[in-house]
Amino acid sequence: MEKIIMKTPLVEMDGDEMTRILWKMIKDELLLPFIDLKTEYYDLGLEKRNETDDQITVDAANATKKYGVAVKCATITPNAARMDEYHLKEMWKSPNGTIRALLDGTVFRAPIVVKGIEPCVKNWKKPITLARHAYGDVYKNVEMVIPGPGKVELVYTAEDGTENRSLVHDFKGSGVVQGVHNLTASIESFARSCFTYALDTHQDLWFATKDTISKQYDHTFKDIFEEVFEKEYKEKFEKAGITYFYTLIDDAVARVMKGEGGFIWACKNYDGDVMSDMVSSAFGSLAMMTSVLVSPHGYYEYEAAHGTVQRHYYRHLKGEETSTNSVATIFAWTGALRKRGELDGIPALGEFADKLDKATLDTIAEGKMTKDLAMITSLENVQVLNSREFILAVREKLEK
Ligand code: NAP
Ligand code: MG
Repeated sequence: MEKIIMKTPLVEMDGDEMTRILWKMIKDELLLPFIDLKTEYYDLGLEKRNETDDQITVDAANATKKYGVAVKCATITPNAARMDEYHLKEMWKSPNGTIRALLDGTVFRAPIVVKGIEPCVKNWKKPITLARHAYGDVYKNVEMVIPGPGKVELVYTAEDGTENRSLVHDFKGSGVVQGVHNLTASIESFARSCFTYALDTHQDLWFATKDTISKQYDHTFKDIFEEVFEKEYKEKFEKAGITYFYTLIDDAVARVMKGEGGFIWACKNYDGDVMSDMVSSAFGSLAMMTSVLVSPHGYYEYEAAHGTVQRHYYRHLKGEETSTNSVATIFAWTGALRKRGELDGIPALGEFADKLDKATLDTIAEGKMTKDLAMITSLENVQVLNSREFILAVREKLEK
């Protein structure tokens, strides 16, 4: 069989621990035999990040700006324990945070739906994609414990020195206070990423805030979305036959539970944090969730939503068998290949990605799966495979 030829390289960001092991198996068994794979390789494994003072992460993000499409393996975000384990020079920041800051993107997370793994919510027939704003609000807050009576005010001092004050509360006793902020530019980027992704994936877009209570803060989010939509996207949405729908956050939650899925749900930072865990657990498993960072400039970075699966890796190092789910990592690769094919006008890449997705899902639907799925499946007589066996089973299906 002739291999599919690529034009532009994908930015390949390798990672850590068990997912690094899966990464190589996926390339060797599922990609290299079929594609003349062109990538520009960046090793974001913690050792290399430490060795390069994390410059490698910045280089990888810049390469994504150059080529437009990246695929990323899960990486360790260092904490105190990792400092000792890897003898780190510094507690390097989360690579995802660094990349997101450089690409100015929004993260979209979507469950991978397959026969045999049913969502707990009976009426959910199609995936719900969550778009979480990744800047500001309570994640960049300033807080104070108020020890006793006194006044708390918000003060804005303009560059020319004029002041604008607003009373938060005249405390008669002790209490707490919190200041949060967001930026017009960041909210506009968020809105553009959401509208662009809705067009890309041909799905309706929902957005919700608490604008009835927060008449300036949340209302600004609502207004910016409305304005960007009217000016830049309304016609495109009409042409594509999709809709933009705004409602209150509590109404959105109620509708999501009663709906059948198949839309994108854009959330403010905190709502997205909370709701993405709810949606992913309700759909079955974190190992069946894809994640893509979409920048308003049209750069894409695909990855799995889960981490490096550290516990499995330690077992692997001891020579024990692991049954680690590679589905989300496979889908990260197919997402990136499909987008590359689309941008370069190589339909064969997209067709290959579709076939690999289908081979992966058919393997599970036939009852061959890793342990995490075997524990929650509604299928009977399942065959539990180890990490390598599952990938080989997918390869067999793909070749057929
Ligand atoms: P994790 O790697 O997502 O794993 C947590 C647990 O979830 C695992 O121990 C495993 O449960 C289960 N699990 C997750 N993915 C699985 C898969 N593909 N197949 C089977 N089971 C899976 O989270 P973590 O242990 O909290 O974090 C480990 C490292 O990953 C940390 O250093 C963290 O910084 C990093 N991390 C990276 C990213 C990223 O790069 N995007 C995201 C999150 C975390 P059992 O052990 O019960 O089988
Ligand atoms: Mg969370």
